[in-house]
Amino acid sequence: MKTIEHWINGTATSAGSVRTAPVFDPATGRQQAAVLLAERSDVDTAVAAAAKAFDAWGDTSLSQRIRVMFAFRELLVKHEDELARIISAEHGKVVDDARGEIVRGREVVEYACGIADALKGGFSDQVSRDVDVHSFRQPLGVVAGITPFNFPIMVPLWMHPIAIATGNTFVLKPSERDPSASNLVAELYAEAGLPDGVFNVVHGDKTAVDAILDHPDIDAVSFVGSTQIAKYVHERATATGKRVQALGGAKNHAVVLPDADLEFAANHLTAAAFGSAGQRCMAISVAVAVGDTADALVETLARKARDVKVGPGDDPASEMGPVITEAAKQRVENAVAGAKAQGAVVVVDGRELATGPGFFTGPSLVDRVTPRMDVYREEIFGPVLAVVRAASIDEAIAIVNANPYGNGTALFTASGESARRFQRAVKVGMIGVNVPVPVPMSYYSFGGWKDSLIGDSPIHGPEGVRFYTRPKVVTTRWPQVTQSIEAAFNFPTSS
Ligand code: NAD
Repeated sequence: MKTIEHWINGTATSAGSVRTAPVFDPATGRQQAAVLLAERSDVDTAVAAAAKAFDAWGDTSLSQRIRVMFAFRELLVKHEDELARIISAEHGKVVDDARGEIVRGREVVEYACGIADALKGGFSDQVSRDVDVHSFRQPLGVVAGITPFNFPIMVPLWMHPIAIATGNTFVLKPSERDPSASNLVAELYAEAGLPDGVFNVVHGDKTAVDAILDHPDIDAVSFVGSTQIAKYVHERATATGKRVQALGGAKNHAVVLPDADLEFAANHLTAAAFGSAGQRCMAISVAVAVGDTADALVETLARKARDVKVGPGDDPASEMGPVITEAAKQRVENAVAGAKAQGAVVVVDGRELATGPGFFTGPSLVDRVTPRMDVYREEIFGPVLAVVRAASIDEAIAIVNANPYGNGTALFTASGESARRFQRAVKVGMIGVNVPVPVPMSYYSFGGWKDSLIGDSPIHGPEGVRFYTRPKVVTTRWPQVTQSIEAAFNFPTSS
């Protein structure tokens, strides 16, 4: 059985780890590898390597850092197929969906290729007689990322390209459920010319996470995962003086108004609810049907849910793969059973559509759900779409706003006036108008409101640059300036 090692200081290593966790093939339910679980001393080794590498990397020219990012971006393109297959094999999502997350993650690398612009400082001439002021930003030092299973390459890519391009060194603790993509990313960085120790991967569980949160030589922690762990990470890491960005769970509502094109809305809702088996932080898990649209919407959604092709991720015919673990399958199926017991109408029962020996459960559509039911209150993180009925757009907005999460939401409508009212009124960070999964482009930042983001820092884009750097403001007076008289005749280049 293959053992998945850490990547520390430019090489694969088991460091001092002996504990392992199983890595499953969700399509068969069988264990396919064992991943090492780091002890505190292994995290110390990785942080020491990153701290040593920071001495040189933090001082490396902007031009040099950008060249590495361009080379890394090309390697992500070259290895897209290999990466997509690794992700699909461990996560279970269909290969084309895995390609999608690679492309969206690569866009953050493209943003990092333009980091010179984002790092430009300010300059004020002659603020007092013979006095100027300028500002610039510097990297923090060693920063760490702790990431969830559902986007094994995209979510880490939200973090490390910006951290590294701004001059930090990085320790990544990916999900132990699908760890292999991170090791290939480390190899690609090395091939791109990134010096040893700048990007390190430490696999592990709570022991590794706690070691990161407590480590005195780590300056900042980026976390993406469930709200419960996001709150824990935020509290523990800020207690030791670190910067923390902590993105949590979600319950994303799509509101369908009576003037919406029903077929269009139902098509997009089906893909947004059941794509990646509902295991996306921006998946639509609640459809709010407004006015007399509900019966027709439910009928159309039911037809489409039954048509979703469920199968292994590496079968090109599959539209939806299995969920990540047997426990996840049980959680999803218990949620459907619980909804029925609490009075909801199970229109399509995914338990009956499950196929194969792996962790498969089919798409479920549950109608006449109320906000008091568990199927509404809990983040199921599986292929279950709950339909809530509302009399008006105002009632729909009130439902969205009463929910503790505020990650994403979407409105389906033909009315610009309704769309404007909706986007101004909802307490949600990312909003789609006739766009069901409104993940911001890399040059904006990603982050929800309320329990979907703990602390105050969204991720990547301009907010990422701010998070991974500290500002300096310099006030300067030169009473007398002497200049070198030497001059070079060749065209100036940076080095
Ligand atoms: P998770 O919270 O279980 O795990 C996330 C990370 O925390 C993993 O690296 C894991 O090893 C670690 N971890 C787990 N339990 C821990 C504990 N007790 N102590 C310390 N560390 C611990 O999340 P998951 O199941 O891997 O991913 C799904 C969750 O992530 C969902 O809630 C989803 O909404 C959320 N998510 C949010 C976003 C976003 O942008 N807001 C994006 C992707 C996923």
